[in-house]
Amino acid sequence: MAYVIEDTCINCGACEPECPVEAISEGDGKYVIDGEKCIDCGACANVCPVDAPVEA
Ligand code: SF4
Ligand code: SF4
Repeated sequence: MAYVIEDTCINCGACEPECPVEAISEGDGKYVIDGEKCIDCGACANVCPVDAPVEA
């Protein structure tokens, strides 16, 4: 399991530094999560202003 960032992402970048395994990076129009690295901690979802990261 891993989190994914939905299209509602507004590209604010708040989640990237919160990820303990550096799974988040800026993608094309929104931020993206590397599902191979994500450990499902939920830290990104906790800081996101629009609740874009969700459990896949
Ligand atoms: Fe990183 Fe945790 Fe979000 Fe996965 S759930 S992308 S490990 S902050
Ligand atoms: Fe997108 Fe939310 Fe991350 Fe901001 S915190 S870049 S809106 S997923």
